[in-house]
Amino acid sequence: MSAIIYKQLGEVELVRRPKPQIQAPGDAIVKVLHASICGTDLHILQGHVPTCQPGRILGHEGVGIIESLGAGVTSLSVGDKVLIACISSCGVCTPCRGGLSAHCSTGGWILGHTIDGTQAEYVRVPHAACSLFPLSADVSVRAALPLSDSVPTAYDVGLLPGNIKPGAKVAIVGAGPVALALVMLAKLYTPKCIVVIGRGGSRLETAKTLGADYAFSVLDGDEAAVQSALEVTNGGGFDLVSECVGSPESFDICQRLLAIGGTLTNAGVHGCQVKFDLHDLWSKNINIESKLVSHDHTSWLIDLVQSNLLDPQLLVSHVFPLTSAQNAYTAFKAGSKEGVLKVAIEM
Ligand SMILES: [Zn+2]
Ligand SMILES: [Zn+2]
Repeated sequence: MSAIIYKQLGEVELVRRPKPQIQAPGDAIVKVLHASICGTDLHILQGHVPTCQPGRILGHEGVGIIESLGAGVTSLSVGDKVLIACISSCGVCTPCRGGLSAHCSTGGWILGHTIDGTQAEYVRVPHAACSLFPLSADVSVRAALPLSDSVPTAYDVGLLPGNIKPGAKVAIVGAGPVALALVMLAKLYTPKCIVVIGRGGSRLETAKTLGADYAFSVLDGDEAAVQSALEVTNGGGFDLVSECVGSPESFDICQRLLAIGGTLTNAGVHGCQVKFDLHDLWSKNINIESKLVSHDHTSWLIDLVQSNLLDPQLLVSHVFPLTSAQNAYTAFKAGSKEGVLKVAIEM
């Protein structure tokens, strides 16, 4: 089969590899229809993930058809169309039973990291019963694809810990796929306002199309963006502020936007230290929530898509054939400059 591997620093390569085989009773072999590229894949190429070695087939996001199943998987059938969760979980270990499935003792983020991933014609998915989600025929592959990672991250990490009520004021810092998924999901909670602060004019326009009331660019300066956002709340700040970038600058913007009693949810992947203004914030009854995505709510998110209440298809901006793997990565790397959101690879 053909597969995209992490060749060396900064480089992917399309190679031929043997088709994966069932190795354990809980495994499934999935024929991949679409996979997508994630910011995490770029972190691997930049050498930020030493646990992922060159030669690894990349990818932890995808939709496919079950080709074969281990003897222990009774809840799925060969031929099922399935969503592949970015996190594999066994469902029975102590972290899984404690609601921390992202920290599964034999799973977690393993696909495209410590075992071969989804950017290939076939992928072996361990713990298939808890890590694959059946999709009905009427859900398009492209609409389902962002449910592998971006949409559950937006919901589980960005939105849910904020406990917002109707009328809440919501600020989202970042304008990538997770941030835009969060705009769509926050809208379902009838907030008073949604403000997006990010870079990339076309991404900010997309944020407005998806339901953001205001979009401010950090290219005009962080201070100007913070002041413009605070003006929307007459200076009072936001009940939910979500960090969807993973940079010291973005975290700083977030902490300055918090209302008294507000919650800062962190969905960004941070590679260096951030400054935390506890001297300003200690008395303001604020909360900070940071976690890894779980797939505890993915069945419900799929239901929202099936019911036409959520259309994640809008997050997939580009589709490339597997033979154009290099072009797909080049397009994704251009990111905010070119208005690129999720890049899908069609097998
Ligand atoms: Zn991802
Ligand atoms: Zn587990």
